[in-house]
This record gives sequence, C-alpha cells and structure tokens, in this order.
Amino acid sequence: MQKWQVQAEKHNLIIIKEGDCQLCGSATTRGIGECIEKSAYIPHRLSHDEGVEHMTLFLCVDAYALQHSEMQGRWSIHLHLARLYLMLVEKIQWNYSYTPILSSVVDAYKIKHRNETIAPPAVKSRGAVTVTDVEKANSDSQYIALVNSWALGAFKSYNEGHQIAQRIAEALKTKVGITSGSRSTR
Ligand SMILES: [Zn+2]
Repeated sequence: MQKWQVQAEKHNLIIIKEGDCQLCGSATTRGIGECIEKSAYIPHRLSHDEGVEHMTLFLCVDAYALQHSEMQGRWSIHLHLARLYLMLVEKIQWNYSYTPILSSVVDAYKIKHRNETIAPPAVKSRGAVTVTDVEKANSDSQYIALVNSWALGAFKSYNEGHQIAQRIAEALKTKVGITSGSRSTR
C-alpha cells in the first residue's frame, strides 16, 4: 500500500474512482487517482533551475498537499502551510536548503504542541484553482501565474491555521537568520 493510501485509511476516506477529484474538485474523469498522477508531473513543467527560481517546485507540492490533507500526515500540514506562509506572505526566496531546517523547526514545535491539529476546510473548498487548471497553462508565464494562484487559494482557505503557520515561520526565520523579503544568494 502506498503512503497516501495509509493516510487515506486513517482518515476513513473512501476512494471514489470516477468524476471530479473528491478532495480538491479538479476536473478529472477518474477521480482522485487521476489527480494524484497529475500532481506527479505538474511541478516539473519548467526546467529544474527555473522551477527553483520561481519556486513553482515548492508551491505546487504545498498547494497539492493542502488540498489533499486526508493523504497527509498530521504534521505535514503544519510544514506545508508554514512554507507557503514564508513564500507567499513573508516573500522569502525559498531554496532546498531551507526545507530540512523547517522540518526540524516543526519537530521541535510538535513536542510543545502535542495535541494541536489544523482542521482542513471542507473538501472542494480549499482554493478555486486546482491541478487541472494549472495543467491548461499554454505558456511558462501563465504556468507561473497559475501555480501562484493555486498556492495562494489553498493557503487562504486554511485561515484557521495562519497563526500557527506564522509562529513556525518566525522560528524558521530566527534559526536561519533571514528576514522578510530576503533574497537568497545561494
Ligand atoms: Zn485532487
């Protein structure tokens, strides 16, 4: 069984194999399985270096995770929401080196907040843009814009988690020694 299926079982999710994606509402015909397939390639439309530069590699993963929280571990939502907060609200230029540091910040955070959960919004209410909208982009610039809308919509829908995301983001900034809007030179 794949990791996401284990999580789906924990959430008592009954997988529907036809129609729209039952979690994000994307315009699939084979349901959630098709949505997952698309999520595997949608972050890779740009070259790797461009994907890092425009942060689309990270934004796609975070947007998808938030729209499919039933396929994620509990603390994974903290991580993805905090990363979106850092990129979209704090305007931090994200790079690969920050992600393991963010993981360690979340690990430290969860020891102090053992019982905390971030409740997801209702299914299909987790942002208007989905993976099948992003897929329709017919230029790189349109793709970048759609990925940003996708991530912003998913982030905004989790408004109850924003304070938590902010706290984790502050801890990350302190640990790395960066301030809002800083541009990485790495
Ligand atoms: Zn979906």
